[in-house]
Amino acid sequence: MEIIIEHLDKTYRNGNHALQDINLNIPNGMFGLLGPNGAGKSTLMRILVTLMKPSSGRVTVDGYDLRKNRKEIRKMLGYLPQDFRFFSKLKTYEFLDYAARLAGMKEVAKRRQAVEKMLEEVGLFEARDRMANKLSGGMKRRLGIAQALINDPRLIIVDEPTTGLDPEERIRFRNLLSTISTKNVIIILSTHIVGDISSTCEHMALLDRGAVAFNGSPDELVEEARGRVWLIKATENEYREISEKYPVISTIPEVDGWEIQVVADSINGYSGINIDPNLEHAYVYFMEAKLGEWTESDDFK
Ligand code: ADP
Ligand code: MG
Repeated sequence: MEIIIEHLDKTYRNGNHALQDINLNIPNGMFGLLGPNGAGKSTLMRILVTLMKPSSGRVTVDGYDLRKNRKEIRKMLGYLPQDFRFFSKLKTYEFLDYAARLAGMKEVAKRRQAVEKMLEEVGLFEARDRMANKLSGGMKRRLGIAQALINDPRLIIVDEPTTGLDPEERIRFRNLLSTISTKNVIIILSTHIVGDISSTCEHMALLDRGAVAFNGSPDELVEEARGRVWLIKATENEYREISEKYPVISTIPEVDGWEIQVVADSINGYSGINIDPNLEHAYVYFMEAKLGEWTESDDFK
């Protein structure tokens, strides 16, 4: 299984150029799509799930052309949209049964079995008789992923699935996805939260203003920031200066000033040491230092 995206472009009718010359190869496993709001993540996902046409470019999924073979691609697809809601007045198990029917599971007995198994897997079996639209936020999200997984899809696309979840639910959700991340399955997960891109994602892309700013493994992204994360001991005055020049990642008060972490190619004139970068450092480096989006902070004015 492989997704090949070549020169993909999308301009909305109002002129918004949401995707610009996207080139990506997505292999089996979990693929993280990281980017701030407005980067184009949902646009890319809506194109991949055949709900929206690209303006130009080519996408193949397991050899099937997105423009010509929509039916074949839809058959292998499970999708959790960013704005997933339950409009209908269905109980939890009824909703999942309905989703299974939509996914083409015709046999009642088989469907019931699949629904019960899935309810167990996402931890909603106890809640099966509750109204779907009355479930808690975390439970709704789990029902959302259940409907995406009900027909054993080989291509799973989940758009910002962790938004609004508490840390415990987040971890649970990630574990659920990584258990189904088996050999011949692609899972694409989009997020604007760096912490969602964990070691469970073998591959990832960083999307910024419609373009791919980085494509590789999370470890490779981290390495991009090596030598560029600085720990500086600063006085009050220095701290003000530094925070206007460089992105500050963290600030720890000390007896005689501050200990601050900044991301920058160099910190001319200040004495600091390089520390090991992590994914958050690398993200800030890409979004602010490297791509020139760092604007002077308004603090202390
Ligand atoms: P993300 O999911 O990363 O937040 P989106 O794909 O939703 O980003 O949006 C990318 C860009 O396209 C944004 O500038 C957004 O305002 C614009 N956009 C999204 N949907 C539409 C639409 N239906 N019509 C016009 N512009 C849109
Ligand atoms: Mg989105």
